Amino acid sequence: IALKRAKAGGLGGHAYYSESIANETRDRNRMRVALHRALTQGGQLYPVFQPQQDLSTGQVIGLEALTRWRTDEGIHISPNQFIPVAEQTALIVPIGEWILRHALRVQETLHGLGHTDLRMSVNVSAVQLRQPDFLTMLDRVLDATPIAPEHLELEITESVAALGIAQVLSLLDAIRARGVAIAIDDFGTGFSSLSYLHRLPADRLKIDRSFIHTLESGQGGRIAEMVVPLGHHLGMKVLAEGVETAQQLERLRALGCDEIQGFLLARPMIADDLVAWLAAFHPDDGAPQAGAS
Ligand code: C2E
Ligand code: MG
Ligand code: MG
Ligand code: MG
Repeated sequence: IALKRAKAGGLGGHAYYSESIANETRDRNRMRVALHRALTQGGQLYPVFQPQQDLSTGQVIGLEALTRWRTDEGIHISPNQFIPVAEQTALIVPIGEWILRHALRVQETLHGLGHTDLRMSVNVSAVQLRQPDFLTMLDRVLDATPIAPEHLELEITESVAALGIAQVLSLLDAIRARGVAIAIDDFGTGFSSLSYLHRLPADRLKIDRSFIHTLESGQGGRIAEMVVPLGHHLGMKVLAEGVETAQQLERLRALGCDEIQGFLLARPMIADDLVAWLAAFHPDDGAPQAGAS
């Protein structure tokens, strides 16, 4: 389609470029069809969980649920590829509800095993929030689980700004009124202004891992120095994403960062591995060997 349109528009000289757009469109369509099948058929999508640690106590205080897609051919497709496609095609709406239900079911298992202090964080796309029945969906899911809403957190990104401040504020207030916490994910990569951030009722600020990656070598250190007190000033806990080294951990601790998540502590794991990891974890010996998924 893109190729035809380009030719019709007299862009024949850019056939190479047009073709690559056509290929991209075709790939996206293929992925959309395959993702739809994966969702309806079941078995290809599954959740993994990555622990989060409180730096002052050493305790694991939360888990982030992340969606994985392994096709019937055994190919792993990264969320960085399929989540944008899911967002463009609104498949993120059923996928979002599916992971939320799944994550709460795992919470139930963990509570049954005595891990009753863990908060479960689930990513929510702006496309989901834009659905008029988002709160109805949330209530339906909360009604169906014995897990208290206080044990759930929804991660949103600055991209929710596209919904308009009034709608965002009323949604976030309604979510928090139910007892569910809010985290601002990938902080620093979006375009939201300080006045916007200041008005968001959120519990946690997650510093994007690009800044943690450059904590010692680049801009990251300066950003983290500013973001930690900023988050605290706004009454939020500050969590650093993508912590991979002990050096990064020590620097974040010195900066007063509250919590970390990253390969240093553990990789995202399937539920069974998570249960084993939690059983082996002891706050005093630092991180046990991480699972590998
Ligand atoms: P995110 O929400 O910021 O999730 C954190 C990402 O960082 C995850 O990538 C995680 O595997 C990765 N990560 C964690 N620690 C480290 C580390 O120490 N080093 C490195 N290099 N990476 C680390 P993942 O699972 O590939 O997901 C990528 C993004 O896709 C997520 O970023 C999120 O925006 C989106 N995503 C994943 N699952 C879902 C979902 O169920 N719903 C929605 N709406 N988005 C999702
Ligand atoms: Mg996240
Ligand atoms: Mg993030
Ligand atoms: Mg993200």
